[in-house]
Amino acid sequence: MKILVLNAGSSSQKSCLYELTELPDRPPQPLWEAHTDWSHQQGVAELQVKTIHGAEVKTDITSDSRRDVTEQMLKTLWSGATQVIQQPNQISIVGHRVVHGGETYQSSTRVTEAVKGAIADLIDLAPAHNPANLEGIQVIEELLGADVPQVAVFDTAFHSQMPRSAATYAVPYEWFERGIRRYGFHGISHQYCAQRAAQLLDQELSQLRLINCHLGNGCSLAAIRDGYSVDTTMGFTPLEGLMMGTRSGSVDPGILLYLLREGGYTADQLDEALNKASGLKGVSGVSGDMRQIMQAIDQGNDRAQLALDIFFHRLRSCVGSMLASLGGLDALIFTAGIGENSPEARLATVEAFEFLGWEINPEKNAERSKDDRDIATPESTVRVLVIHTQEDWAIAQECWRLAQSH
Ligand code: AMP
Repeated sequence: MKILVLNAGSSSQKSCLYELTELPDRPPQPLWEAHTDWSHQQGVAELQVKTIHGAEVKTDITSDSRRDVTEQMLKTLWSGATQVIQQPNQISIVGHRVVHGGETYQSSTRVTEAVKGAIADLIDLAPAHNPANLEGIQVIEELLGADVPQVAVFDTAFHSQMPRSAATYAVPYEWFERGIRRYGFHGISHQYCAQRAAQLLDQELSQLRLINCHLGNGCSLAAIRDGYSVDTTMGFTPLEGLMMGTRSGSVDPGILLYLLREGGYTADQLDEALNKASGLKGVSGVSGDMRQIMQAIDQGNDRAQLALDIFFHRLRSCVGSMLASLGGLDALIFTAGIGENSPEARLATVEAFEFLGWEINPEKNAERSKDDRDIATPESTVRVLVIHTQEDWAIAQECWRLAQSH
């Protein structure tokens, strides 16, 4: 079975093609991987493609249209130096990451007209993501034909079993009835890492209490018990919770009222400020990228240091909050760009819980390895795992499972 995965974002998209004859324990290498990014230059998308056979292509596509860019990207599957299939109809199924599934979608689902309608209806709740996800589905349908099954894998689904107390805001109950509740995001990554942790620890997922720290440009934590998310830091939108690259995370909503009433801000300006000009970038004035923050600190930049200190402070306090929701912990997991690559972030988190006997081995923490691993000391009261998140593979697995069940 050839499974195409499309992870369509607002300014970039990733895609890969897996070939499976059975569901392996570990992610296989994709036959073909492509990345397009149109954030650098207006009207130009950079396309990078590589294959399992070592072929690589880098090229610019002059177009603003996702359809054109996706078409050019997919053509590299069946033509040119990166060709891995003879024709498009060899693709058996296509899986999409869809950020918001609302209350309706609690698991992955085959895309139908009704599913597309629901994703469109949820655009108000995820304006930066759902339109791109929907467009990705439509483009694939146009390019590969309506007969190729498509699957929507939702970032919110993993959190859909959260207890009501964790999912409900303390606001007028009518708001909850209108769908204003905590949904949580990064679910595909949280679920993958939880399953991978159980595999690494050689234990049943249903026996484990886990905190997964997904720390990338977007950051969120999930408290996972019996394989379900019981609490998470993101809420109604991906703005709540931890400090992020350019997003504020949680702030006192009174600030927004103040700025609307007294500061002359419009809703759109607040949106821009909280989503694009806050977080590491807003505080440091340097960048939303953790590597650049670290470089600026090395050069003595005080605001970069403050940004990092806030990032760690928020991270530690949110880990504490997840810990309380679980009532104990077997393993703390670090994943995504910062989680996988920053020994400083891992140390800053674990150190705060030394009083509970959490301890990491400094050499293992400093190791620059791509392998999933346990970096806790043998004496530590919790395992501390570094796991390379594999959202695309998780989406491919969902496609496989859905295809088998039909
Ligand atoms: P992601 O969204 O998962 O791609 O993660 C992006 C974030 O990971 C950015 O803030 C990067 O600066 C950060 N990151 C990537 N590599 C490193 C590294 N070696 N050390 C610290 N942060 C890193």
